[in-house]
Amino acid sequence: MIIQPKFRGFVCTTAHPEGCATHVREQIEYVKGQPSIQGPKNVLVIGASTGYGLASRISAAFSAKAATIGVFFEKPASGKRTATAGWYNSAAFEQEAHREGLYAKSINGDAFSNELKQQTIDLIKKDLGQVDLVIYSLASPKRKHPVTGELFSSVLKPIGRPYASKTVDFHTGVVSEVSIEPANDEEIRQTVAVMGGEDWEMWVQALSEAGVLADGATTLAYSYLGPTLTWPIYRDGSIGRAKIDLDETAHRLDRRLKERGGRAYVSVNKAVVTQSSSAIPVVPLYISILFKLMKEQGTHEGCTEQIYRLLSERLYGGEATVDENGRLRIDDLEMKPEIQEEVTRLWEKIGTDNIKELSDLTSYREEFFRLFGFEFDGVDYKADIDPDVKIPSINE
Ligand code: NAD
Repeated sequence: MIIQPKFRGFVCTTAHPEGCATHVREQIEYVKGQPSIQGPKNVLVIGASTGYGLASRISAAFSAKAATIGVFFEKPASGKRTATAGWYNSAAFEQEAHREGLYAKSINGDAFSNELKQQTIDLIKKDLGQVDLVIYSLASPKRKHPVTGELFSSVLKPIGRPYASKTVDFHTGVVSEVSIEPANDEEIRQTVAVMGGEDWEMWVQALSEAGVLADGATTLAYSYLGPTLTWPIYRDGSIGRAKIDLDETAHRLDRRLKERGGRAYVSVNKAVVTQSSSAIPVVPLYISILFKLMKEQGTHEGCTEQIYRLLSERLYGGEATVDENGRLRIDDLEMKPEIQEEVTRLWEKIGTDNIKELSDLTSYREEFFRLFGFEFDGVDYKADIDPDVKIPSINE
């Protein structure tokens, strides 16, 4: 099959196995080029196939030499359809990890379900005994509650009043005004149920009760705050409510884990291009401006640079410093006042006619396609390629 990108808005329905493998290898090379981390030994990553979760798995494995179990929800190739990017990423990750003699197994399915939690516990018991780091990096539009069976949908909406702002179609570069109606109480409740802390807490509880969480274990979940510019749609919007719930969950889990020498944190990460962030209105335009400024300052980071820094400097590099809400912060470089003042200045002026000059939309687009394995030098996109790639531990 000759695999080309097929996209609609922020969704790309094809992925390229060799390109995804190249992407994973690039991230591994970055981590291997950094000083190694004296860190976790057995790591569970929930949401391990793309974005921040994949970067977490790569950093733990290739910098701390940790055994990793990755949980995710991806699709293998079938008929004329390619697999999803996260499927190809995970296949490449396992191959590279096994090549270096590292334990790496994956579980594909609905992480919100009790069955998948039990399957994970059984695998930990069988192969690792216990895990000492649990990273929760799920991003999902829907969740089926494992007890009540209720199906929740999350929304990306402001709260209280409509929100109008600039947004960009990153394929065409056309900047337009977007207006979003506020979420109602029911939508907020459902967004919190999908992206808040309940499922994270269920995971930690299940692992703990099953005796597979080591004494002194750490658990992490990821969050975002961002600048005032995006607050109406993010921090103060429906997703922001879910993130507040995540903070409260972290405090509860931290108190519980402390009894056994452990800890729980929310880490506030920077805005990066992932399948999830490209779906948020306004955010791609903000990220395009941010990229330009952070590249100019030499402080540009992607998921891997962020997570390597989180593990090496914040979590396993001495005393973890937290903010007034007990959160780890690796969004420090994004939030520097001089960067944000300049973002605001450019935001006022940006439009379709000057977008190339005032932002790095080209990099945004390129990074978007790279998420699906496209736009890599050295990959022959005209070659006929077998889309049916196996993930070693799933297909064994
Ligand atoms: P992503 O879309 O790249 O990854 C989501 C992961 O969740 C994938 O591995 C996917 O397979 C998995 N997943 C989704 N539904 C699942 C299910 N039902 N069962 C099992 N796995 C499932 O997302 P991301 O952008 O890396 O986001 C991860 C976390 O990081 C989120 O909490 C997000 O809010 C946070 N974060 C993201 C950004 C950003 O700019 N992207 C910034 C700061 C924080």
